[in-house]
Amino acid sequence: MSGKIANNLGSLPVVFESGNGSVLTDINGKTYIDFVSGIGVNCLGHNHPALTKAIAEQAKKIIHVSNYYNSDKGLAFSEKLLERTGMDRVYFCNSGAEANENAIKIARKCGSLSDKKDGKAEGTRHTIVALVKSFHGRTVTTLSATGQDIFHNPVFAPYTPGFRYIPANDYDALKDAFDGTVCALLLECVQGEGGVNMIDRDWALAACAAARKAGAVVIADEVQTGIGRTGTFLASEALGINPEIISLAKGIAGGVPMGATLFRGVAAESIVAGDLQTTFGGNPLACAAGLVVLDELAKPGFLSAVTEKGDYIRSKIASWNLPCIKNIRGRGLMMGFDIDRPSRDIQKICLDMAGDGKPGLCISTAGANTLRFLPPLVITEKEIDTGLEILYTVLNQ
Ligand SMILES: *Cc1c(COP(=O)(O)O)cnc(C)c1O
Repeated sequence: MSGKIANNLGSLPVVFESGNGSVLTDINGKTYIDFVSGIGVNCLGHNHPALTKAIAEQAKKIIHVSNYYNSDKGLAFSEKLLERTGMDRVYFCNSGAEANENAIKIARKCGSLSDKKDGKAEGTRHTIVALVKSFHGRTVTTLSATGQDIFHNPVFAPYTPGFRYIPANDYDALKDAFDGTVCALLLECVQGEGGVNMIDRDWALAACAAARKAGAVVIADEVQTGIGRTGTFLASEALGINPEIISLAKGIAGGVPMGATLFRGVAAESIVAGDLQTTFGGNPLACAAGLVVLDELAKPGFLSAVTEKGDYIRSKIASWNLPCIKNIRGRGLMMGFDIDRPSRDIQKICLDMAGDGKPGLCISTAGANTLRFLPPLVITEKEIDTGLEILYTVLNQ
């Protein structure tokens, strides 16, 4: 079913053709409630009128100019994004891994400059402290940053050195993690791919304080948690950790590929022309889409509705009292629970429910026994109820 495409995640047996709101349609006309939104990307759902209009109009004007030049949409989007996040600078790129690569470069440059001030050899302060069960991308360096052994397949070795891992929510681990070689703490505010693991607010504050005491900066990987996913524009707002560097991607342009690394203070002062560069980054097409996403998320009640819908889904699932469901968790519309059977089997059965005029369900996994929900932020209560009904039927058999 995946043809000759090399990058398909296990290729599920469906071929999509179109979508509307939180409903997808395949090439056979079968429909599916979308609880995945392209792995937390299509935050405004499918065929969103303002988004498709902006993309179509921008395509007729100009698609790409390279970062030799500015574009009106690039300038407008950067200004709005910085205003919304309180950060000083933004570097646009094309994916989450690339946003993290650049976050790591910025942190290492900050470390290098502080080495110089302390009279140490440049590059001494280069270690990044990341968390166990984290996920930061699929490039050689971001795999290295990822704190899960299954991502360190020896066939791709050697991995980029300079990473160490500590378990989240473990206070003892903070004691000697931050020595004089550390330039940054890297964390997800809710760990997505690692299993929808919640980070305790007090622990996050203590970890950031320990990092800063050692002269390191804090990088929040908000590639999945950012852009309203957890009910605040950034998940780091809810934790109160005020990162020096933030990486964004997934939802940032509503489905047009885009990443961004935001930074402030000492990080903003450290970076000069030529340090970061990419051909496609921040092209006007992606920025035009990103502007619509920011406008929609700024509408009154948008983010509080994300929180309410998430709470509604979690309480509804809890009310089923199904013994196969454990540890319902999450924040806003980023959530998951554990089940007593392989999550990939459930994922496939939910798809197979489509037919006879009835919809199926797209649902995501995060580990062998965890089901994950990342519906479009604009999902309606009716779409939620239809999707949950399908899930209940599948899990109750
Ligand atoms: C998805 C994800 C990435 C990688 O993003 P890509 O766009 O696939 O490169 C990095 N970090 C987190 C937290 C993610 O969820």
